[in-house]
Amino acid sequence: MKIAAIEWGRVSIPLRTPFKTALRTVDSVEDIIVKITADTGEEGFGEAPPTGVITGDTAEAICGALKHHLAPSLLGWDMDDFEGACRRVQTALVHNTSAKAAVDMALWDLYGKRYGMPVFRMLGGGKTHIVSDITVSVNPPEEMARDAKIAVERGFDCIKVKVGVNPALDVERLAAIRAAVPPETVLRIDANQAWTPKEAVRILNGMQEKGLEIELVEQPVKAHDLEGLKYVTERSFVPVLADEAVFGPEDALKILQTRAADLINIKLMKCGGITNALKIVTLAELFGVECMIGCMLEGPVAVNAAAHLACAKSVITKVDLDGPMLCASNPVHGGSRFEGKDIFMTEAPGLGVEKVDGVAYRTL
Ligand code: MG
Repeated sequence: MKIAAIEWGRVSIPLRTPFKTALRTVDSVEDIIVKITADTGEEGFGEAPPTGVITGDTAEAICGALKHHLAPSLLGWDMDDFEGACRRVQTALVHNTSAKAAVDMALWDLYGKRYGMPVFRMLGGGKTHIVSDITVSVNPPEEMARDAKIAVERGFDCIKVKVGVNPALDVERLAAIRAAVPPETVLRIDANQAWTPKEAVRILNGMQEKGLEIELVEQPVKAHDLEGLKYVTERSFVPVLADEAVFGPEDALKILQTRAADLINIKLMKCGGITNALKIVTLAELFGVECMIGCMLEGPVAVNAAAHLACAKSVITKVDLDGPMLCASNPVHGGSRFEGKDIFMTEAPGLGVEKVDGVAYRTL
């Protein structure tokens, strides 16, 4: 089985409501879909969301990486050397982790289809169902409390709350949400780098003293500030999860060795795909540190790939794969079934994606 064609095109999916974090406001998913066709006719699909404020990957950069580096280095490659294909993705150019993730997952999809096995089973997983949290955007406290209540009514029992815009309001935001949801609802928060280390400790311990029961906090301080992250981890009662601070396995190793965080957030778009995510998983297993599987604001092809990984690896204990649940429609045929908080796997080979509607593909 040889790689005969690599094509890509844009997909646009409207969101149910605008998505607001400390870094940005967005009202639709605008992703790049990658399709790799083998000479046997099978197709593998991948997806990359342009998330300039986090990965630095713009839509134009993703297409440029595909056109000038990734596609030329893979065309004609024999898929029987699957490991070599995955390595070529990572070495075709530096950075550009979202474009690499899209191609890497398309290769896994294709490889699974070649041997008739779902990717999560190829990786040894026996789980066929996972439960995701859902994100509540950062807004005035009353509005967030209302959004959290709506999420509970939709069946979610774990809510991820975005904070960090005007940090003076953050304790109030969480107090309003805690009062609006049932006591058993799990609340996790994401500051998206918005706090200083001292501010983070003050806010987190303030939340704890008020009995707000915060499960964990994501990326309280600037991505590059590992000392600040460690400062918060050592002084906060709320467990700290490194997100923007961990892109690839090298970053994960540094954080694990210095104990700068309690948990690690794996996202395919930060690490460059399933192949590199597996390296982070192995490191986390060695250090006995649990992981979250997360996503950008991304569509069902990419989130489906992340779900396969989550079903395969038990060190991934927290699931934040709400991208498809925030979308108002789903143009993808095949793949996992997203039903409210539940994600159900199928036994379809590879990643199970059959086609994506509304994509005008182009190629080299
Ligand atoms: Mg985050």
